[in-house]
Amino acid sequence: MEKLDWGNLSFGYLKTDYNLRCRYRDGKWEEPEVHTDEYLNIHMAATSLHYGQESFEGLKAFRGRDGDIRIFRPDENAKRMAASAAYVKMAFPGVDAFLKMVEQVVRLNEKYIPPYGTGASLYIRPLLIGTGAQVGVHPASEYLFLIFTTPVGPYYKDGFKPIDVLVDRDHDRAAPLGTGHIKVGGNYAASLESQELAHAKGYPAVLYLDAKEKRYIDECGAANFFAIKGNRYITPASHSVLPSITNMSLKTLAADMGLEVESRKVEFAELPTFDECGACGTAAVITPIGRIVDETENITYEFAKDGKAGEITTRLYHRLRAIQLGEEPDPHGWVMSFR
Ligand SMILES: *Cc1c(COP(=O)(O)O)cnc(C)c1O
Repeated sequence: MEKLDWGNLSFGYLKTDYNLRCRYRDGKWEEPEVHTDEYLNIHMAATSLHYGQESFEGLKAFRGRDGDIRIFRPDENAKRMAASAAYVKMAFPGVDAFLKMVEQVVRLNEKYIPPYGTGASLYIRPLLIGTGAQVGVHPASEYLFLIFTTPVGPYYKDGFKPIDVLVDRDHDRAAPLGTGHIKVGGNYAASLESQELAHAKGYPAVLYLDAKEKRYIDECGAANFFAIKGNRYITPASHSVLPSITNMSLKTLAADMGLEVESRKVEFAELPTFDECGACGTAAVITPIGRIVDETENITYEFAKDGKAGEITTRLYHRLRAIQLGEEPDPHGWVMSFR
């Protein structure tokens, strides 16, 4: 392996040595296999390719200050994939098999876990796809569950800086009673047009409003939205919002800090009353939001004073990072660690 410049890795794909694969055939899951090949050989009529019968997860392994390897709440990713699989009618190997395979694939690729202090991590991507051939719209009878890893760089190369977000009323990533609550590729396909239009205007992310009334805040790109208002941590509750594990954790940490936590419908009209806003997810933990620009109404809502992230947002970010890296105690037992 060439010497990697950990601090300058992007959030792209870099080959590691091994991936793990497990097949479902004849009504049962087979034993996981270690592979070095990055390619799959699947039937051209596989249901994942035509009808989107697939789900993925994203989590990270960190090298702690003490040298231990830490993975943040992998049991939650396993449970979420089980829920996604159930909704799109896929077989799922089970939470325990998922966790074992996560640990094994990380151990196999241990040399790609970035050293402590670089801000980089080993991204873990579990993927579940329908591989059985089917032309009619039905669940497949064969599935492949695989996990690959790839090292990713620190999200904030030049500091924890607030971003500008564009309100998008012209696209929805998920329907009110659709698939927004599960982690399936189709939601991402549905978001690409919106994301590209925002990028072309210079915005790194869009803010989606609820698909039905455009009255409530839904998600911020592929991340959950939260706001701080006085002593309150407020985040949208909606069927079309993906239950983010980062957000779930931030709610707990906010409560630990003495904030009141509100998971409820959040009206777009409440924006001017918020002190701080952010987006959260595994990739960045928190992306502070500096401005929310509403081109339709020609209003810009400002949340960052002097271009800096808010105080509570910053504290939450550092607290979660410190738990992931083993710098501070993990009172809720979130981290799976091994050497
Ligand atoms: C994955 C994802 C998130 C973030 O979830 P985490 O578990 O925090 O990584 C948020 N929104 C969407 C739409 C997602 O797909």
